[in-house]
Amino acid sequence: MTQQNVVVCNTKSSVELSVFPAVTAPQKPPVAGGGYISISRRPRRVLKNLEINGDQRINAWVESMRASSPTHLKSTTSSFSEEHTSWILGHPSALDMFDEIIIRSMEKQIVMFLDYDGTLSPIVEDPDRAFMSNLMRKTVKKLARYFPTAIVTGRCKEKVYNFVRLAELYYAGSHGLDIKGPTTTTSKYNKDSKAEAVLFQPASEFLPMIDEVYQQLVDKTKSTPGAKVENNKFCVSVHFRCVDEKRWSELLHKVKSVLKEYPKLRLTQGRKVLEIRPTIKWDKGKALEFLLESLGFGNCNDVLPVYIGDDRTDEDAFKKLRERGQGLGVLVSKFPKDTSASYSLQDPNEVMEFLQRLVEWKQVTMQASS
Ligand SMILES: [Mg+2]
Repeated sequence: MTQQNVVVCNTKSSVELSVFPAVTAPQKPPVAGGGYISISRRPRRVLKNLEINGDQRINAWVESMRASSPTHLKSTTSSFSEEHTSWILGHPSALDMFDEIIIRSMEKQIVMFLDYDGTLSPIVEDPDRAFMSNLMRKTVKKLARYFPTAIVTGRCKEKVYNFVRLAELYYAGSHGLDIKGPTTTTSKYNKDSKAEAVLFQPASEFLPMIDEVYQQLVDKTKSTPGAKVENNKFCVSVHFRCVDEKRWSELLHKVKSVLKEYPKLRLTQGRKVLEIRPTIKWDKGKALEFLLESLGFGNCNDVLPVYIGDDRTDEDAFKKLRERGQGLGVLVSKFPKDTSASYSLQDPNEVMEFLQRLVEWKQVTMQASS
């Protein structure tokens, strides 16, 4: 396997908490035929980047953590259901729109990008037990037989590989900071034979620092019941899914106090997780682009990337697809969320159904053409 080292310059001189926007600019979802569904939206509020030093906006951060980590229906009032209906109009179910999606994929090579937690596996209290079902594994295995398929996750690639255990997939771990290709025969769909050997680690120099911060965060958060710190090699995750909401602010203070000493690291948030990453310009969107290029689809019009994810960090990939004017972003969520994705699926079960339908459609079209 050829190692391909690419160094991305660190252009930031101070640490920032990059708060993902609580809301994004209005998006018009594409529909079959190139038209758009028009929906009205409520006024939007955007959280700006926050400085790590200083507590004045800590409440805004905690609020943002809540917004990205919904655990239950906010209410059963008609206003909630109106909001949900309006959201579904803007982000229709990928299952309901399956036929339209197929029309968009005609004459194009579908390339699949799948987040792991909350997309292929349910969100569970213990992140070490976020197992995917055997049926999901079989489905993804079949999917990879017909379409190049990559797992794109915040987890380290070794850990996610242990969950997925499919050698024929691409794995982009640590939010794309650690990428490797299939370890089995290259898919016949790969246009570039080098893709099999892709190994991409743009942040290797950060490894000792990440280990150090991991240890400090373990010590610092010991006194917060339910907090769990995970070393994802190029990223440290502080899970707060089991922390009482009243203690989120305290936990955030602790994490910030550790990070004060590390201006080359930045803090972002995902679904019930705070994540510490190198301040290099790399994210799941860049990983998607890198993988497409590695597969030989860099400047092609005859490719349809499909990205399915449930997290704020997946928004970088959804935005990348919008920028490229190519492909489909599918957000996994039961709740209305601000997103750049075009479609939605409610949970991993619906994801599996969608993947199964893709496989069945491909099998039928291949049989028909043989
Ligand atoms: Mg996820």
